[in-house]
Amino acid sequence: MLDGDKIRKYREKAGFTQLALGARLGISDRAVSKWERGLSLPSAENLLALSRVLGVSVDAFRADGDEGTAAPDAGVTACGMESLRELYKLGRGPSSSHTIGPERACLRFAGRYPTADAFAVTLYGSLAKTGKGHGTEEVIRKTLSPRPVTVRLDTVKTDLPHPNTMEISALREGALLARARVMSVGGGSIVFEGEREEVPPRVSREDTFSAIATLCAREDIRLWEYVVRTEGEDFFAFLSTVWEQMKRSIREGLQGEGVLPGGLGVERKARTLYASQHIDESPEVYENRTVCAYAFAVSEQNAAGETIVTAPTCGAAGVLPAVLYYEQKKRRLPDEAILRALATAGLVGNLIKTNASISGAECGCQVEIGSACAMAAAALGELYGLSLDKIEYAAEIAIEHHLGLTCDPICGLVQIPCIERNAVAAMRAKNAVSLASFLYETRKISLDRVIHTMKETGLDMNAAYKETSEGGLARIRL
Ligand code: SF4
Repeated sequence: MLDGDKIRKYREKAGFTQLALGARLGISDRAVSKWERGLSLPSAENLLALSRVLGVSVDAFRADGDEGTAAPDAGVTACGMESLRELYKLGRGPSSSHTIGPERACLRFAGRYPTADAFAVTLYGSLAKTGKGHGTEEVIRKTLSPRPVTVRLDTVKTDLPHPNTMEISALREGALLARARVMSVGGGSIVFEGEREEVPPRVSREDTFSAIATLCAREDIRLWEYVVRTEGEDFFAFLSTVWEQMKRSIREGLQGEGVLPGGLGVERKARTLYASQHIDESPEVYENRTVCAYAFAVSEQNAAGETIVTAPTCGAAGVLPAVLYYEQKKRRLPDEAILRALATAGLVGNLIKTNASISGAECGCQVEIGSACAMAAAALGELYGLSLDKIEYAAEIAIEHHLGLTCDPICGLVQIPCIERNAVAAMRAKNAVSLASFLYETRKISLDRVIHTMKETGLDMNAAYKETSEGGLARIRL
């Protein structure tokens, strides 16, 4: 007999709200609530998914069951994965939940009321407390412009459906046309209160690297070909948009000057780094300086609230474009090769998103910068034509050496240590792929296993190091 209280216990232990768990499983928070109150039972498919997401055995949910541990390498369940369109998102930085989410909420709401001549927005919870530093107000004004907007921050109200809640009102000649409460639930995803949640469809059956690798080996296809099979033939048109925006972010970031917003006084450095060539500079130093300049360029655009592509998040958006842009210019690669690499990288990012997390607030910076590094390593592996085993090893190395990395940005701004961290991770990705290409026969740890370990490490991490501004570098006052 299933015990709803145990579902609640393991959900809370894993750090999920009912809303977040529902979103992960592709169901509503009300369904989760009903299971926990014993008002309904999960289907067999949802029970298996629950076991995987919470990292316990199916029996653990029985009244007389014990916890056990789901075996990530076994790949016995097949919950599948969402489309990479849900991973690579174009939007304004610096934070997917604080800027891309509110931006999408405003766009959707404004689209419903084209006759509105003004808007009023109230931010609650974390959006109100850290929204100023993240530029949430600025993004809302830019998104709804040229119509006037009043933005109010309510840091007092606590009875909220989600920590990131906002209320948007559409006005016409001073009268209220409509009002909506919207939750920014992470990764740029939004939920309008009282409306049916838009649950992204699962496009693939497989959700472990071992299952995907087995299929690719059997069918003699590369990882990017697997992605095209699951996403559809038109997927490269989408990736092309992604790549064009990544290049635009680098080019514009290299032109940027001055101090980044937020009050820390952090100067943009990409332009200087890019132009600081020594007359006798070695090829190694040139490569390091140039790749880092590209990573700075995108990360500074993100910190300035400009448009970037989440890869997999806003804070880690500089790593993947930096290594790809450098390789394309150096080896004069066609865009088609880059798009294949982007598909491969996205697959790795999606595996992490599905089986662990890509939220620094949930599992620390290891899942943002560590994931971006793994994606970049996999992308380089594809560009170099490496085997499946070597690509897996490169991504595994990239994650392994980010395990435990904390999220502690100073003043909650995605600037220190985030910007430099993108540059360091870009170079680490190059290192990981180089090691993997020589040493892959000696590897002991699978990509699935290290992703599972990253999740466990993140859940064990002290909350002070998960984007709360309470520990680590975040305690420094500049
Ligand atoms: S320190 Fe936190 S905010 Fe900065 S990149 Fe890492 S996860 Fe993102």
